[in-house]
Amino acid sequence: MITISVLQTLLKALLYAGVVAGDELVDYSEYKVVRMRNLTELRSAKLAQFLAREKKVQMWEPDYPSQVQQTKSADFLIEEKRLLRLREQFAPNEFEILIDDVEAAINEQKRQPTNINSMESMPYDIFLTYPQAERWLRETADKFPEMAQLKHLAKTEQGRDLWGLQIGKHAGNSDKRIFVDCGFHAREWIAPASCRYFINLALSAAYGLPVDTSSGSSIQTQRDTHLPFTAEDVASLLDIDWFIMPFANPDGYEWTWIADRMWRKNRADYGGTCKGIDLNRNFPVGHRTGMGTTVECMITYADTTPISQPETKAWDSWIRELHEEKPVSAQISVHTYSQLLMPPWATGRDEGGLFASDPPNSVETRLLATFCILMSHSLTVIAAIINFRVKM
Ligand SMILES: [Zn+2]
Repeated sequence: MITISVLQTLLKALLYAGVVAGDELVDYSEYKVVRMRNLTELRSAKLAQFLAREKKVQMWEPDYPSQVQQTKSADFLIEEKRLLRLREQFAPNEFEILIDDVEAAINEQKRQPTNINSMESMPYDIFLTYPQAERWLRETADKFPEMAQLKHLAKTEQGRDLWGLQIGKHAGNSDKRIFVDCGFHAREWIAPASCRYFINLALSAAYGLPVDTSSGSSIQTQRDTHLPFTAEDVASLLDIDWFIMPFANPDGYEWTWIADRMWRKNRADYGGTCKGIDLNRNFPVGHRTGMGTTVECMITYADTTPISQPETKAWDSWIRELHEEKPVSAQISVHTYSQLLMPPWATGRDEGGLFASDPPNSVETRLLATFCILMSHSLTVIAAIINFRVKM
């Protein structure tokens, strides 16, 4: 017989995992990702209408169906049987199937070698679960004690530890400081994975160690590889002090592993039928002005007040604390999708704030960054002249 206390413990365990009524464990077996581009005004209006009606469609780009009329294009996740209906209204050459079997692609992304039990057994071309990521962070700080310090920033709502990692040769005393957050959006797995790769690359180069080559891009001492930099160049990056939140949304990230790969927000429980705050919209400038930011069930829900979440509070207090010691030169948010490099400002200027004006070399900087990415990755990158966001 199950006693009340056992039931309570079980319920608590379930609550901790977030598996309670109203939370959906999502299976993407019947789903495909579709791209439609270069639509006429009429066709984009028609598509927007269709997508808005369909409950099970998830927009990838733009964020909402109504925005399709501006972009004249859309990437979206759709159930196969609904796609059939869409096919009746559009010509075959108007579709491109980006991912044919979404569940298979998800399972492929979750593949890991067996026996992952230390950072040395965690290659850089796989994704880590959050407990593995924490282990990797602790062991990285232990392996490079002179140049890496782990900082406990906060506890998340579900009780996970949120970490910051400071890396650099001068233990925080450099005149240049850069603040980086990775993975505010839970489903953007490649964001924290890229930060993890960068951290290891920079530290290994600065320590003169061979760099992990599991991702297939080792760095050489000569400039004759596909990468336009040498190990020495990479090592010199640690003349700067980097303050990094490598896995900035632990609860949401873990949820993408155990329940819904497409989850984007954190897992804040505000007592409604839906959960989660879009951490990227939980900042003061432009708060609750974007689409969906006032609606709890939307992926861009911003909460009723800014800086209300443990993750954004930790972000805010850490960068303020650093900036008071010595000015922070730059802040970078690492996201994914769209091949977009977005400099400030997107939602309006923060008059009187810490980063209220552009640096004098901002245009040169963005052009140079775009050029370097093109050189090293041959990607189509847009150096957006529009803004991203101001958070202080
Ligand atoms: Zn994002």
